[in-house]
Amino acid sequence: MDDRAAIPVTLPRSNPTQSYWQLEPDEIADLRSTDSLPEKAETVIIGSGITGAAVAFNLLNSGANDIVMLEARQACSGATGRNGGHTKAASYRSFLYYEEEYGTETAVKIARLELANIRAVHAFAKEHGIECDSNPCDTIDVVYDEAQWERDQQAVEAMRDAMPGDDASVYTIHSAEEVRDKFFCGCGGDEGVYGGVSYEAGSLSSYKFGIGVLKLCLAKGLNLQTNTSVLDLEKLEDGGWKVETSRGSIQAKRVVLATNGYTARIWKKFQGIIVPLRGHVTAQRQGSKMPKDGLPVTYSFIYEDGYDYMIQRPKGSQFEGDIVIGGGLAKGDNEGIEEYGTTDDTAFDDVIMQALNRSLPEYFGDNWGQDNPEGRIRNAWTGIMGYSPDGFPFVGEMLGEKDLWVSCGFQGHGMVLCWMCARALVRMMNGGDDDELDSWFPEEFRITEERLHLDFHGRLHT
Ligand SMILES: Cc1cc2nc3c(=O)[nH]c(=O)nc-3n(C[C@H](O)[C@H](O)[C@H](O)COP(=O)(O)OP(=O)(O)OC[C@H]3O[C@@H](n4cnc5c(N)ncnc54)[C@H](O)[C@@H]3O)c2cc1C
Repeated sequence: MDDRAAIPVTLPRSNPTQSYWQLEPDEIADLRSTDSLPEKAETVIIGSGITGAAVAFNLLNSGANDIVMLEARQACSGATGRNGGHTKAASYRSFLYYEEEYGTETAVKIARLELANIRAVHAFAKEHGIECDSNPCDTIDVVYDEAQWERDQQAVEAMRDAMPGDDASVYTIHSAEEVRDKFFCGCGGDEGVYGGVSYEAGSLSSYKFGIGVLKLCLAKGLNLQTNTSVLDLEKLEDGGWKVETSRGSIQAKRVVLATNGYTARIWKKFQGIIVPLRGHVTAQRQGSKMPKDGLPVTYSFIYEDGYDYMIQRPKGSQFEGDIVIGGGLAKGDNEGIEEYGTTDDTAFDDVIMQALNRSLPEYFGDNWGQDNPEGRIRNAWTGIMGYSPDGFPFVGEMLGEKDLWVSCGFQGHGMVLCWMCARALVRMMNGGDDDELDSWFPEEFRITEERLHLDFHGRLHT
């Protein structure tokens, strides 16, 4: 893994695989608000994914103006435009580990933040009329591994004890029979389901959500410059930053890195600390015997050395009924290790893609039926995540670098972290780093010297 973490991180690549969500790129995909790059700006935000969009929105909402956003490719074409569309935090699955490593208070804070993030994203879409197929609903984890099933049940108990009557997800444990009857899995063979856990989650088109937030920002005066790569940052002697881009330079009083898996290309201290990881996703037409009214929940399928995650496109959405399933990491060559360190989302690993392509009839067994005559696979693509040694994002001002702000490194988990982290970052930028922020924002997400020197071992089982 050391070798993979040491691969120099590149800029976002040209001509990535086309994600399902971007089959019809939005009208602002290639927008440049002004023909040429402004010479100066109060704030430059690098990256136009959910983080960049949420930081811009919060800044504009708190009275800031003169913000320029630089994006290497099309608007929202990083992980946010290429993910699995799942707003799901299996908080209970990490709860015991966080309790052991960081104490109950931190474990509770993280679980609360994740749920608050899910709710806030769907509520924001509703409040602002963002058409992104927002579908808050329950989810089920179908567990195929005995040891994990035992631990999952303990974890649910531990969370119930630690967060009684709290703003925590309500978890329901299901027997293998219930999983078969209510959730259509594990029928028609010995698929080895041990049981399931259901709780609050949701799905949406993160691409459309991100674009929707960007449009709100544009209406408030954001200057968006797409197809503009940032090549370098230089600290100016009398304060502020010179941002070198593929289209000339721009001076800014402050800079925000919302560059997730690509951050180390701009700020070398993150080399080996925020490590790119390529993820695979497919969109598949549902089988003939799948429920005509759609599946009631979203899914994860948890097996010994990894998991797959899955949503169904809700009623009224484009390609209604399609199933979007991603994961399969540990099924790749060398247990998926080759996926670390690469920023190449122009290609995919055949073995992982084939595993995803055949997974649905395996999971749904007799309930799948015949494949759609047009073929099961509608689309398959990859995207780049940013993984950190301890599994937490980096949020705050860069140590010793005044006015260089960071919110990056969201693992495969950004739709349940980025929104609240952006909110926290903007509070810090506005001088509101106080007890109230500490009451909900985990200090483990802040940038420390110690975290910048951790060894990266990869997290194949997250
Ligand atoms: C295949 C895949 C599936 C996923 N599935 C899920 C899921 O189902 N649920 C979930 O919660 N999370 C999921 N994630 C993770 C989630 O999508 C990310 O954590 C989240 O989108 C991160 O958002 P972001 O805005 O921080 O980063 P991004 O969306 O990656 O945005 C960063 C932006 O910065 C730009 N950029 C980078 N470097 C430069 C530069 N030098 N100059 C200019 N621009 C630059 C990039 O082009 C990019 O647009 C998935 C990720 C992938 C890749």
